[in-house]
Order: sequence, then C-alpha cells, then structure tokens
Amino acid sequence: MFLEVDSPGYPLRHEPHNTSGYPSRERLEKGPVALIECIEEIPCNPCEQACPQHAITIGDPITNCPHLDEDKCIGCGLCISQCPGLAIFLIDLTHSQGSASVSFPYEYLPLPKEGQAVRAVNRTGEPICSGTVVRVQNLKTNDHTLVVTIAVPREYATEVRGILRAQGGRKDG
Ligand code: SF4
Ligand code: SF4
Repeated sequence: MFLEVDSPGYPLRHEPHNTSGYPSRERLEKGPVALIECIEEIPCNPCEQACPQHAITIGDPITNCPHLDEDKCIGCGLCISQCPGLAIFLIDLTHSQGSASVSFPYEYLPLPKEGQAVRAVNRTGEPICSGTVVRVQNLKTNDHTLVVTIAVPREYATEVRGILRAQGGRKDG
C-alpha cells in the first residue's frame, strides 16, 4: 500500500505517492530502509548530516525536501532520532514471515517494553492493528529521543507510524 502527499500536510493512505523521501516498493521488499515523511520546505538538514552512507540529500537551498537514495541506505536507523520533526521511520518488510517491523522516534513516558503487546497507530493517531515491541533503543547520542521498533502484520507496515500511548507524559530527560 502506498501513500500520497496531500494539502493537509501529511501523506494520505490508500493512494500512490511520489515524494523524494520514499523508497520504491522494490527497495522495500529487499529489507530495512528509511522512509522520510518530510514534505514541508523548511530550513532543516540534520538528517543529511546524520546518515553515514550519504543516502539523504538536502543540498542547496537548505529548504529542499530530503531526497533518499534508496540504494545507498543500509537500514541502520541512525537518522530516525536525529530528525527534530520526528519525520523519519524505518521499515523492514523482511522482519519475519508474515510480519514487518517499523521503527519510529518516541518521546513519551511510560516507555514501552520489549515483548509488550501494543496497538499500532497511523500518522493521524488512529489505531489500525496490533503489534509487539521488538526493541527500545535509548542511545546517549539520541538526545532523549528513543527509537522504538514494533512488529506488525506486513500489510500495515507502510501505514504504521507509532503506538497508542498509555497514560503518561512527554519524555524530557
Ligand atoms: S537508515 Fe541509515 S543508511 Fe538509511 S538513510 Fe538513515 S542513516 Fe542513512
Ligand atoms: S531532519 Fe527531519 S525535518 Fe529536518 S529536513 Fe530532515 S527529515 Fe525534514
């Protein structure tokens, strides 16, 4: 299932997409790859600096939307926590037979735990399927932004953008 950018400022479901931060279906099928949902022309480029493979290009002017070179991306996920707009995700359609994994930035408490059953939500916060927490990464270099990876049914992989949060607050340290 592909996505399309529309006037509300976020990509819509069920429609084709053509933004420069999206990998092709062929690349998605090969394994973990970044998916960049950055469609506003803002002066920002930490993603470009963060990628050790030089797979993300903003260039000049700095207001360009990021371009993902899907062949250079090795799916390391290092760019996810470096985006102040929380706009970068990692999708792995090869996670296991029938399931995919989706990694996303997470800045809330309480923190999810590995193995925990969760409700996965789309970009508008709507629950769309069940998932299981695979990994919670809290690296010092991530500057308080964790990266959470969940396993979900494969058909929802390109829609899932987070999890339904338990009651709590924003993580600030
Ligand atoms: S996942 Fe890794 S290789 Fe791919 S764009 Fe992000 S930092 Fe670069
Ligand atoms: S760091 Fe995030 S918000 Fe900034 S240009 Fe890159 S993807 Fe867009």
